[in-house]
Amino acid sequence: MSVVTREQVLEQLRQVTGPDFDGDIVSQGLVSDIFIAGSKVFFSITVPADRAQALEPMRAMAEKLVKAIPGVVGAVVTLTAEKKGGLTSDDAPPARMPSRAAQRPKQAPAAHAAAPQAKAGVPGVKSIIAVSSGKGGVGKSTTSVNLALGLKALGLKVGILDADIYGPSMPRLMGIKERPEMTKGELIKPMEKYGIKVMSMGFLVDEEAPMIWRGPMVVSALTQLLREVDWAPLDVLVVDMPPGTGDIQLTMAQRVPLAGAVIVSTPQDLALIDARKGLNMFRKVEIPILGIVENMSYFIAPDTGKRYDIFGHGGAKEDAERHNVPFLGEVPLDMDVRANSDAGTPITAVAPDSEHAKIYKDIAKKVMENMRSGTDGSGRAAPKITFE
Ligand code: ADP
Repeated sequence: MSVVTREQVLEQLRQVTGPDFDGDIVSQGLVSDIFIAGSKVFFSITVPADRAQALEPMRAMAEKLVKAIPGVVGAVVTLTAEKKGGLTSDDAPPARMPSRAAQRPKQAPAAHAAAPQAKAGVPGVKSIIAVSSGKGGVGKSTTSVNLALGLKALGLKVGILDADIYGPSMPRLMGIKERPEMTKGELIKPMEKYGIKVMSMGFLVDEEAPMIWRGPMVVSALTQLLREVDWAPLDVLVVDMPPGTGDIQLTMAQRVPLAGAVIVSTPQDLALIDARKGLNMFRKVEIPILGIVENMSYFIAPDTGKRYDIFGHGGAKEDAERHNVPFLGEVPLDMDVRANSDAGTPITAVAPDSEHAKIYKDIAKKVMENMRSGTDGSGRAAPKITFE
C-alpha cells in the first residue's frame, strides 16, 4: 500500500491559484499543517472570511487535486478565516455561514425523517447522545465535557466527539495539544484524557483559526469523525453539536444515529425561543429529548455564599415541564467552572467531590436513567438502534 506524504500533497496544491491570482496557495502560505491519516488527508486554507463563499471553487479544486493522488481515499479541506484578535466561536459562525449553502439541504430532512432506521450505528458504540444548544456561548461544550466525565464516574466507557466544528473547543477544554495517530486498521486513534476518548477537528487542523464550512462539508467531515475513528468499545459517545438549530444541525441530527439529545440553555433563552427551537428540531426527527440542563442558572457569591438569581432564574423547571421535557438540573455560574473549563482541567475530573462535580454527576445519572427508560418524558418510546 502506498503511503501518502505531505510533499505529495503540497506538490498538488501548488497547482491551485490563490484568492488574488498572484501565486499558488502553497507559496502564499495559505495552507495549514497537513494531517495525514493513512489514506486520508486533512488541512485547511486560509481566506478572508467575507470571501469564503466566492472561494468555494478554490477549495473544491484543492480537494479534487489531493484526492487524485494515488493512495488517497478521502480529503477534508476546509476554509479558515484569517485570525483576528478577539474573534470567538460564539460570535463568528452564524455571520460566516454561507446562507444559501446552509439552506440548500432543506429537502433532505423530510426524506430522512421518513426513514430513521436507515441510520447505521457506529460499530462498538452502544449509544450516541447529542448535546445541543440554540445558540453559541451558553456552555454547551463545558456541559458536554462534564456530562461525559459524570457518565464515566458512573462506570461507563465514554467518548466525546466535538462536532462543533465551527469552533472546536475540545483541545482547549480537555487540555489536549497532541495530534492523533493512526491504528493499524487505518482508523484515527482518538485522543485520551481523564479516561475519556476524544476526537475533534481541532486536532486535525489549526484549532485557533475559525473554520468556514458549507453545509454538505459539515456532514461529510462529521461522518468521517464518527465512522473513521477507533471509538470501540464505548457505552456512550457524547456528541458536542454545533450551536444553533438550522438546517446543518438538523441534517446532522438525522445522520447520526442518536439515542437522545440533551439541550443546554441559559435561563434567558429557555424563556425565549432558542431552546424551544432545539426541542422542536429533535422532535421533528423523532429523537428523544433526554432533558434540559439550565446552565449559568444562578450565582453564589464566593464571600457570603448568598445566592443571586441574576438571570431571572426559576422558570426553567416549569418551562421544561410545560414542554413535556425532563429537567436534568441547574448549573450555577461559577468562576471555578469557567477557570477549569478554560484551563483544560474540567471540574468533574479535577475536583470530583466538589459541589459542581456533584451537580454534573447528578445530571449524568438522570441522562442515563432517561436513556435506559427509553422515553423522553413525553411517553414516546425511544427508537431502538441496532449495532453490528
Ligand atoms: P458553548 O459551547 O455553548 O459555546 P462553552 O462551553 O465554550 O460554550 O462556554 C462558553 C464560556 O462560558 C467558556 O468560557 C466557559 O468556561 C464558560 N462557562 C460555561 N459554563 C459556565 C458556568 N456554569 N459558570 C461559569 N462559566 C461557564
